[in-house]
Amino acid sequence: MTKRIFRTILATSFVVLLVGIAVIIGILYPYFGGQLEKELENEASYLSLSVEKDGVAALEQLPHSSSTRITLIASDGAVLYDSQADAAQMENHADREEIRDAMENGSGKAWRQSDTLDEQNIYYALRLSNGNVLRISSAQRSVVSLVLGVLQPLLWVALLLIILAAVFASRASKKIVAPLNSLDLENPEKNDIYDEVAPLLTKIDRQQKTIRQQLAEAKHRQEEFSLITSHMSEGLLVLDSRMDLLSYNESALRLLGVSEEKSSYVGKNILVLNRNEAFREVIESSLAGHHSETLLSLNDLSCQIIANPVLTDGTVAGAVLLLVDVTEKTQREAIRREFTANVSHELKTPLTSISGFAELLQNGIAKPEDTKKFAGRIFDEAQRLITLVSDIIKISQIDEGHLPYTAENVDLRSLISGVLDRLRPAAERADISLSLREGNASLETVAPILEEILYNLVDNAIKYNKKGGKVAVSVEKDGRQTRIRVQDTGIGIPPAQQQRIFERFYRVDKSHSKEIGGTGLGLSIVKHGAAYLGAQILVESTPGEGSTFTLVWDSTC
Ligand code: ADP
Repeated sequence: MTKRIFRTILATSFVVLLVGIAVIIGILYPYFGGQLEKELENEASYLSLSVEKDGVAALEQLPHSSSTRITLIASDGAVLYDSQADAAQMENHADREEIRDAMENGSGKAWRQSDTLDEQNIYYALRLSNGNVLRISSAQRSVVSLVLGVLQPLLWVALLLIILAAVFASRASKKIVAPLNSLDLENPEKNDIYDEVAPLLTKIDRQQKTIRQQLAEAKHRQEEFSLITSHMSEGLLVLDSRMDLLSYNESALRLLGVSEEKSSYVGKNILVLNRNEAFREVIESSLAGHHSETLLSLNDLSCQIIANPVLTDGTVAGAVLLLVDVTEKTQREAIRREFTANVSHELKTPLTSISGFAELLQNGIAKPEDTKKFAGRIFDEAQRLITLVSDIIKISQIDEGHLPYTAENVDLRSLISGVLDRLRPAAERADISLSLREGNASLETVAPILEEILYNLVDNAIKYNKKGGKVAVSVEKDGRQTRIRVQDTGIGIPPAQQQRIFERFYRVDKSHSKEIGGTGLGLSIVKHGAAYLGAQILVESTPGEGSTFTLVWDSTC
């Protein structure tokens, strides 16, 4: 802007200078012509007095002048005298304008271009009393020659004026622009500047208020969006068509295994978060305009990625990726698959036996004395199947959480006594003594499930015991903790397998377990049942010496 003002002022000054010179010349040139004309008039009237008196002789005595030309013309137009030419040689002057006027009116004047073009002649003619005409003329330079004559000084003056104009223009432009440069656009209304700028400042002020309002709204929305997405358990990633991140939440970083957020990833390529091939493919597919999904296994996590393109006017402007942690679901599915396979296997064995023995009986291959034995085997295997199916039903019910029971205040001592009474015949058969130690407590719990847990623990303590062994159950309340302990003097469990025994169908000694009618589901029911009741199940065991299973309720948990 400074430059523009500078150039405008300079150009204006230059034009003004040219016009000024032209106007001055235009005014002065005719003025000087008029002055010269008056001088000629005066000179003619003085000279006419001498010529009236002495005739041509008066003129011949005059000193020679190069600037003024004197001519005496007779009343018939013949030239009698000329100060610069031979009168005899000169043509008749009667038709000259000034001569004609003088003869008719007493005086006459005329301006005529000279032969050389750079001059013009001014004539003044005066009629004498004898009818002759005295003419005096002088040359005046033409405008062009006048200008050319003063061209050099004129150029110097013009140059000087242009320099002055340039200095002035430079200062003036800076002075005009300075207040504009120091405008406080944050507070446009507070500026005290040219009146002409005031409407602009009012407009800027209005616009700034609108911008501030819109910014505040945008910020508010952004904060709202961040607040919502930061509390999402699902990961959210928004990217543009060049794969650069526009937005993301913390869950997305966690699920993609980005340990710590060093700096913001906004504006960075999404692949800096994870370079997994499947991850890249799902992004590329969504940016090609397709909905796509993939399951990503990252460290211990299974993450399902759902990617959708974002379309504006039919073109893909970016994509939105939703990351869902499906680790638990995947693990459950794996456990379920394994369980189904195990169940099928466990069911197949007794069914094959039943089918085999039944076939022998049906075909009459079995001897009559073996019939009872085979029927007994079929009964045993069927019993095994019934126990297995009922265990499967129990475990499924606990697993699903769809149990028709409600919690109640349970007297633990009487509940344990009931369980021991049910198992006493089996214990006696195995020569195992059962005892309930001193102590009691009551608990708000689901009695049928607790009964099922204790039944399995005591049953195992009998099954995996030695002849003449002992099983002791105790209940105690200690401050915030309630504990039920089932202790046996049995075969014990090797340390490496103490946690695995809670897995479905896991047995330390498979053939021994089957031999004594185990399904491999008892401790799994215990584990799930304890979790349902909000208790912990702990195991301590020494091979060859015995095991202790403890159920612990901690009221602070
Ligand atoms: P099972 O029906 O085979 O008894 P469980 O789930 O009840 O299945 O037990 C799993 C395995 O844990 C058993 O096969 C056995 O090897 C071991 N076990 C359970 N309780 C005891 C115990 N009190 N003493 C020794 N081993 C035990």
